[in-house]
Amino acid sequence: MKAQDPNYCPNPSIDAFENALTQFNAAAQKLNLTPDQIAVIREPRRIIEVQIPVRMDDGSIKIFRGFRVQHNNVRGPAKGGVRFHPNVNLPEVKALAFWMTFKCAVVNVPFGGGKGGVICDPKALSKIELERLSRRYFAELSDIFGPERDIPAPDVGTSPQVMSWFMDTFSMHRKQHLPAVVTGKPVELGGSEGRTEATAQGILYTIREAAEHLDLNLKKSSVAIQGFGNVGSFAAKLLYAEGCKITAISDVTGAYVNKKGHDIAEVLKHKKLNNLTLAGLEEMKGVEKLEDPMKLLELDVDVLVPAALENQITDENASRIKARLVAEGANGPITPAADEILEERNITVIPDILCNAGGVTVSYLEWVQNRMGYYWNEERIQKDLQRIMRQSFKDVYEICQESKVSMRVAAFMLGIRRVTEVSELRGLYA
Ligand code: NAD
Repeated sequence: MKAQDPNYCPNPSIDAFENALTQFNAAAQKLNLTPDQIAVIREPRRIIEVQIPVRMDDGSIKIFRGFRVQHNNVRGPAKGGVRFHPNVNLPEVKALAFWMTFKCAVVNVPFGGGKGGVICDPKALSKIELERLSRRYFAELSDIFGPERDIPAPDVGTSPQVMSWFMDTFSMHRKQHLPAVVTGKPVELGGSEGRTEATAQGILYTIREAAEHLDLNLKKSSVAIQGFGNVGSFAAKLLYAEGCKITAISDVTGAYVNKKGHDIAEVLKHKKLNNLTLAGLEEMKGVEKLEDPMKLLELDVDVLVPAALENQITDENASRIKARLVAEGANGPITPAADEILEERNITVIPDILCNAGGVTVSYLEWVQNRMGYYWNEERIQKDLQRIMRQSFKDVYEICQESKVSMRVAAFMLGIRRVTEVSELRGLYA
């Protein structure tokens, strides 16, 4: 099968890691880094591939292929989610790990970057098959994981339940209770208040900051959101509560438009009753299903939130994007070629390594609480998240103004500068 090839890319002409390096190079050039400084921090430090045998419910054994990439750990343990998806491929996992390194540096949390993935379709597995796959993946990699080494979290296709199985597997191996080995756990198991919605909350905080600079009144703004999973659905809920009109939403089943604005509470109820998808939403009054779901990206809205997968806005459709502000909920949804087109067209992009960093910020707070054994309330978490997101936006915006670069280049400049400084302070071992 094509998707079992570790180098398989959904669109072979768009390699996510190549895109990531293009972004890196643009910022590194502005910082006048030396070739040595670049060489030390650009490529992943460690790439591991594992074969995961799983006993299926019919008694047969299926071998799944999994990865973990540790991009950099000079600022702290590697940190980053695990993706379960049929199109997972090594360039994608490398890119996602790379973005984590600089994302953690932008919000200044003491982590490096990592990411993992398993080529599988979690929706096609029974709950027990998913549990066996999750546990065996974690067991195969238990030597490299650990609260001071590498700390996974949820990403596309994984959930707080999967994190519970990861944490339990690791704790059983070490014969110790070690909740800090993963974040994004259920609150009952040492998860943090506010973690589930943290990524979307961070997106809202950065949208508010950007809207102020753009003189955009969010109460009168229309929004389209691609993807209705953890990030997209909470973004819809929070932006709706902010007073925005959510005119379009989508998931794997299609894109759904309501010109008067979706009633998000009703949509969330519908999702609960429909196997956690938006399928059948067009039957709701005022809702129309688009023939081509990709057209959601081109709708005439004020704010566009891509919150699904990478490489959605490319040089093919960038010239047709109409939003004034694009907030990258997903990682890597805009290719470098599309970035240039959007910049020329004066469309502001809040880059992923800033925009969706609320997730890793609350993951950091979760890790701190696990290590202290003392837990904060929701109010405390929100206060810290808001402070960190606002400050990070300001830091990036300042560089953007001073150096006359896009928000993306500015965010990378900040992240790369922080990683390089620490790398130089530590020096090379032997
Ligand atoms: P998820 O699995 O909860 O949801 C993904 C959503 O995207 C689902 O609704 C799915 O149906 C939809 N989708 C998939 N392919 C699609 C397509 N072609 N068109 C439209 N919708 C499609 O995943 P998530 O955790 O919400 O992650 C979404 C994105 O946000 C990813 O890029 C992820 O790396 C990024 N992200 C997630 C977090 C987090 O805390 N979960 C943090 C930072 C960044």
